[in-house]
Amino acid sequence: MKKKITQNIIALVYDFDGTLSPCNMQEETIFKAYKIDKDKFWAKSQKLVTRFGYEKTLAYLKLLIDDPVFRKRPLSKKKLKESASQVTYFPGVDDGYFDHLKTFMDSLPEVREAGITLEHYIVSSGLQEILDGVSIRKYFKKTYACEFDFQKGRPVFPKLVINDTNKTQFLFRINKGKFKLSESINEHLPEADRRIPFRNMIYIGDGITDVPSMTVIQKAGGNAIAVFDPARRVPQAVKAMVAEHRAEHFAPADFRPQSLLVKILHQTLKKIIASIVYRSSADRSSDWVRRHM
Ligand SMILES: [Mg+2]
Repeated sequence: MKKKITQNIIALVYDFDGTLSPCNMQEETIFKAYKIDKDKFWAKSQKLVTRFGYEKTLAYLKLLIDDPVFRKRPLSKKKLKESASQVTYFPGVDDGYFDHLKTFMDSLPEVREAGITLEHYIVSSGLQEILDGVSIRKYFKKTYACEFDFQKGRPVFPKLVINDTNKTQFLFRINKGKFKLSESINEHLPEADRRIPFRNMIYIGDGITDVPSMTVIQKAGGNAIAVFDPARRVPQAVKAMVAEHRAEHFAPADFRPQSLLVKILHQTLKKIIASIVYRSSADRSSDWVRRHM
């Protein structure tokens, strides 16, 4: 009997702001709707960090709850979700990229033979309520971002905070297939039993805030790609990341079919696919030997 091929899911994990979208999602949605000056808002948030010792992400979430403008007109799940239509994307993201990758995968015979599937995930320090409303939401198996507890329709407390370093927790959730926060990811799970091994993952992020995730992914045999705004010059932070080998590849955040980024993705996917097929044949040959011992 032919043995079923396991660990044949590939995960593409994206940061959001600066990676899929050129902007910061709060600025394009909430700030616009409330006519908030972004520099003033971020300065206020930074003051909470430097003067009062707030963690950076908690600082901005606090302001979204109790800054005078939000006390007067509190945010709601509905408002946030609806505002997501204002989010803009890098070229290709909302114009064929996901379908293109699917077509690319479907065109490879090994993918069909080994039943390989591709899943997309977002791990962001932005807001889940906004991600719930973005036009590209349907392409993602799961999105992780900061979440509020809403009571009587208004946010009262952050119930999930995602920052640069705890982003890595969600990579382990994807790795172990334990998506719910109520599921512990601390228990040992043998490598062979993990839903998506790190070597089957590709992380795409845009900067220094993604370094912890890229490091975790790469140390565990996975793949990391750093992207930057194609409309701007290569930022200093990205140059430093190249020099320090923080990511394997660097490319402008252009998700159209002929772009360098998509070419890199094709190559990386092919590498992962070959490794899945290779491992399954190695498994099969050792099974054969075991049966004939
Ligand atoms: Mg980013």
